[in-house]
Amino acid sequence: MPEARVFILYTGGTIGMGHLDPAIPHSPLVPKSWEELQHFMPSIQPNGYFPLTKGIEFEYHSFDEVMDSSQFNTGHWKMMAEEIEKRYDDFDGFIIIHGTDTMAYTASGLSFMFENLAKPVVLTGSQLPISHSRTDAVNNLSNAIHVAAAKAFDLDLIPEVCVCFNDKLLRGNRSTKASTNDFDGFISPNYQPLAELEEKIKIRKEYVLNQPTGNFLTQTELNINVIEIGLFPGMRPDLLRKLVIDDEVDGLILKTYGSGNAPCSDEFVSVLRKAHDNGTHIMFISQCLQGGVEMGKYNASSPFQNLGIISGGDMTPEAALAKMMFVLGLRKSYSETRFMLQQNLVGERSI
Ligand code: ASP
Repeated sequence: MPEARVFILYTGGTIGMGHLDPAIPHSPLVPKSWEELQHFMPSIQPNGYFPLTKGIEFEYHSFDEVMDSSQFNTGHWKMMAEEIEKRYDDFDGFIIIHGTDTMAYTASGLSFMFENLAKPVVLTGSQLPISHSRTDAVNNLSNAIHVAAAKAFDLDLIPEVCVCFNDKLLRGNRSTKASTNDFDGFISPNYQPLAELEEKIKIRKEYVLNQPTGNFLTQTELNINVIEIGLFPGMRPDLLRKLVIDDEVDGLILKTYGSGNAPCSDEFVSVLRKAHDNGTHIMFISQCLQGGVEMGKYNASSPFQNLGIISGGDMTPEAALAKMMFVLGLRKSYSETRFMLQQNLVGERSI
């Protein structure tokens, strides 16, 4: 009997990339196959440390077309969810090897798509390819294996979709990519890390979601008639009108200033009123990394409270977007949808 069974899904990303033309060191990076990647990870080979010393059994699956994560759409989230759903009962934990560019989006999306998740789903990748002499990939992947195979290391189980990067484990729907080059590539600006993987692994149980009681299920139907727009001084309300006064926009996320402030001009307010009257769900989130929206704190957010605009609280833009797609995808009544958008569903918001 293995100590733990771990399923690894390889989707692409820098971690497995190499130069398009190996003879030209500055030629663009392109994803390579799982066979090439795993060659640089001797500890997962059948006679390597994890199987031999810790009794961990691995199974691997690679996307047919491994990609730079900037090319992913919600269909790819669905594929990832389905690969895990198929094997859910047979494994103790799951690792998704993923590009860093949209890792926080995928992690947010999956966190809503999985209901009653009782096992770890860990997304990881790296800033440098695994073949590089100074790669961060081996460390990130090894840490992810510890989280996914928790029982083989006598660690507490983390029943969450999380991002494991640079010795930290972050709740997926609280994470955001903060650096293109620093090994410390991800932050969780409004929530403490779930674990720190230093010399000792410290799991901060008080921040981890409780083990669910219901059966695991996936809900992969998303509504992608959603847009996210950042406000900026001088934004023309007439241009915004063209974009949002359209029956096809079911959800609009506005990245507002500070604690939810936006221009109070008649033109701007009337654009949002029109969109709201058309049935578009409008959510305000903050452009600030830390803190969140508190409608009514300033007079500059008051007009929007009466418009039925939903406060996104302290959600990341990635979580807000994924939540909007997910909740709208449930095709519930207008008021139920509104209600759900304001709730904390899977630990994505605290205000
Ligand atoms: N462009 C890459 C990707 O997201 C970046 C990375 O993996 O670090 O696939």
